[in-house]
Amino acid sequence: MDFDFSTATVALRARVRSFMDTYLLPYNPAWHLAVAQGVYPPPFVEDLKCLAREEGLWNFFLPQLPPGVPGQGLCNVDYAALAEVMGRLPWASEVFNCSAPDSGNMELLQRFATPTQAQQWLYPLLRGEIRSAFAMSEPDVASSDPTNLQTVLRDSPQGLVLHGRKWFITGAAHPACRLLIVMCRDNDAGEDPHAQHSMVLVPMDTPGVQVLRNIPVMQHQAPEGHCEIRFENVRVAPDQVLGARGAGFAMAQARLGPGRIHHCMRTIGQCELALELMSARALERQTFGKYLADFANVQEWIAESRLEIDQARLLVLQAAWRLDQGGMQQHPHQSRADVAGIKVVAARLQTRVVDRAMQVFGAMGLSPDTPLAYLWTWGRAMHLMDGPDEVHLRTVARHVLDQTRAHLGESAAYFTLPEQLAAAPRIRA
Ligand SMILES: Cc1cc2nc3c(=O)[nH]c(=O)nc-3n(C[C@H](O)[C@H](O)[C@H](O)COP(=O)(O)OP(=O)(O)OC[C@H]3O[C@@H](n4cnc5c(N)ncnc54)[C@H](O)[C@@H]3O)c2cc1C
Repeated sequence: MDFDFSTATVALRARVRSFMDTYLLPYNPAWHLAVAQGVYPPPFVEDLKCLAREEGLWNFFLPQLPPGVPGQGLCNVDYAALAEVMGRLPWASEVFNCSAPDSGNMELLQRFATPTQAQQWLYPLLRGEIRSAFAMSEPDVASSDPTNLQTVLRDSPQGLVLHGRKWFITGAAHPACRLLIVMCRDNDAGEDPHAQHSMVLVPMDTPGVQVLRNIPVMQHQAPEGHCEIRFENVRVAPDQVLGARGAGFAMAQARLGPGRIHHCMRTIGQCELALELMSARALERQTFGKYLADFANVQEWIAESRLEIDQARLLVLQAAWRLDQGGMQQHPHQSRADVAGIKVVAARLQTRVVDRAMQVFGAMGLSPDTPLAYLWTWGRAMHLMDGPDEVHLRTVARHVLDQTRAHLGESAAYFTLPEQLAAAPRIRA
């Protein structure tokens, strides 16, 4: 077992880190100032994107890039190393064209789009010319169970019509967002509850699409938006349906595998940052005649955080490695349990580690003068977005129980019951 990343990945990670140190961090205060003044994205982001693209630091997340597309497509394990670094700065991923939800949407389009759909949406996304959003959750139904979704795609004499309401649609307020991938109930689908949904590609400027509001997450207003959107009798051409009608559920499952690895690795990067900040603060701040770092409870928080981050990283990398080995095709139950498991572990990690860091910082930790309050808010959201923890735990538990069912009784030999004595095989003749 080799715990090192490949030499090429280590070198690429160093280039990404150096690019961020040289070009992004100096612009970080300007980015926040511009966003606070309502200028989003700040104009220099486009310049930084050009520079990153020229240097080949672009589109890391797709294992196989289509011919002629700029960038370096990486497998999940290699990409994980870079996502961890990019995660340290909330706007870094956009500069490298690796932002959520676009990266997941591009994976989806690469797998299921027709050549015409790919020309219209996938290639502009890969070139970083447009942004996109994925619209599944709805205010009126429990969206942790997508079979509940009510937004409907109907056949009418005038053609296909989409009607309904979505919310918390990340990215829909980005001025460059041109595409909504909408998951909806399809009146043409069959009886199976997992075959009743379709996905449609809806241009943002289609008549009947109305962004109602950008919903703040715990007082934090994300500039790219978590939007509530109404679809009022929106006309959809047949060639706007992605994949087969009724296949929406299966495609949504396919989208979430690598996407969760990306989220989780960004979380690990953010937790590393929180640990660095917490440790540095503990070494320079004194109270009651001692540095904070000399108090046993602070040492314990630092140690626990170190161990928890390392455990989580290993688990995420294992999930990424299994996906790279074709896990979703060869061992789909195991791989699904892997990605469900890391989603829970990463969310818990982020709220725990960042909470400790905020405590070490005192009041400053809750102010906007450190990234901690934002990181905690994001961590709290992680417990829900892409499905709540409880649903993922259920996936893990079902997998364990299935495995147990398949080998039921095999552990009985570990009991020490008298009647087992007679069953022991004779060793000597
Ligand atoms: C910041 C943020 C960004 C988001 N971005 C997007 C996006 O881009 N696109 C999109 O479509 N959605 C997005 N979402 C929505 C997110 O995916 C949903 O909130 C999530 O799937 C849960 O759905 P719900 O809110 O309807 O909760 P519900 O389904 O109403 O569930 C409520 C609670 O019920 C409990 N529960 C549910 N199922 C079970 C179970 N099986 N066992 C035990 N308990 C259970 C859980 O505690 C859960 O939190 C985002 C959410 C947030 C917070």
